[in-house]
Amino acid sequence: MEKVLSMSLGEIVLKGKNRGQFMSKLLGQIKKAISDLDHGNVYHSMGKIYIDGYRDEKELIKRCKHIFGIVYICPCIKVKSDLKEIEEAVVSFVGEKLKENPNFKTFKVHCKRAYKSYPMNSMDFNNKLGGAILKNFPLKVDVHNPDFYLYLDFKKEYSYIYTEKIKAYGGLPRGTNGRGLLLLSGGIDSPVAGFLMAKRGIALDVLHFHSYPFTSQRGEEKVIKLAEKISSFSGKMTMYSVNLLNIQKEINKNCPEDQMTLLSRRFMMRIADKLSLDNSYDAIITGENLGQVASQTIDGLKVTDIITRKLVFRPLIGMDKINIIDIAREIGTYETSILPFEDCCTVFLPKHPSLRPEVEEMENSEEALDIDKLVEQAINDMKIIKIGGNHEKE
Ligand code: ATP
Ligand code: MG
Repeated sequence: MEKVLSMSLGEIVLKGKNRGQFMSKLLGQIKKAISDLDHGNVYHSMGKIYIDGYRDEKELIKRCKHIFGIVYICPCIKVKSDLKEIEEAVVSFVGEKLKENPNFKTFKVHCKRAYKSYPMNSMDFNNKLGGAILKNFPLKVDVHNPDFYLYLDFKKEYSYIYTEKIKAYGGLPRGTNGRGLLLLSGGIDSPVAGFLMAKRGIALDVLHFHSYPFTSQRGEEKVIKLAEKISSFSGKMTMYSVNLLNIQKEINKNCPEDQMTLLSRRFMMRIADKLSLDNSYDAIITGENLGQVASQTIDGLKVTDIITRKLVFRPLIGMDKINIIDIAREIGTYETSILPFEDCCTVFLPKHPSLRPEVEEMENSEEALDIDKLVEQAINDMKIIKIGGNHEKE
């Protein structure tokens, strides 16, 4: 009898021809993420990944929860696929479970049998193990709403017994869906947008705009902290930190006041576009959300979207703020996002932002600016910051 962590993998097991590639990526990422912890073999068998012989279960689960592609994590015991051994293990496992949860009164056995030619079917296992539990403990069966489930994965050589299915985030392993450049502000939305796209397998780097010295050093530190939080899911990242102040001053001096926000945002997209082309990012990611502020109306989005030739992902576009906040809390970015520091967009906030902006209008205003030079200067002066991640980028 041995303690083992089993992980179920959701979508990856459906991935047909790419399945092997996804699986080996995921195995590699798990091994790296836990390389400094005591553990035995990490291997996959029939659509699940297993970690043997570990010590610090809590820390292991915490690390694995941050790896996309894993749907459930289950602390199990592993026994030879022999009915007597299984029965004994079930009784000892349930005994421990009841010590931890003395209030449990009801249970249900749920068996999955991958070894189909074995003479007992799932129902036979459920009955046999249910009987053993009833004989040894003052518990009752409740098939609809049990206090706990006793799961058995019955496989040819070894079987796995567990009572807990800890939910992880699912998604696809990091780096299996190209590379994205996340426009990361200090707000609530963009970290959530980065998390959601990373969950679909995009490897991330981040681009942040500030207006130093109008915005503070501590504002930048806040964004670095947010990037660190995202990187605990998405792996090591590069952060490009670009000073937008000169561009904002030029817009302020030469263009209509009501267009300030949108003209700044068009420059953000130009810089993102250029960095994406130069560094081969497949997509730009923003935390934009339809109707949230004046610059994110249909017309506002149209005049900024038209700037770039790259795919732009806006995973929050149709979400309600309350749901975005729920995710921000869940991934641990919310508390940092609400720290009160100036954002570069608020430095030259127009009193009455343009409500029905037109592309042509914007282009006319920009004729007063040397666009290419301003973009080039901003990129030449940008700072590059390496962001940690508790697992390596391949
Ligand atoms: P957030 O909460 O992400 O700051 P927001 O609701 O405040 O978003 P805006 O400030 O209009 O909305 O920004 C919309 C999107 O543009 C952001 O989600 C982000 O992707 C990008 N963005 C805005 N400001 C910056 C910035 N200073 N640096 C990098 N990207 C930015
Ligand atoms: Mg913002």
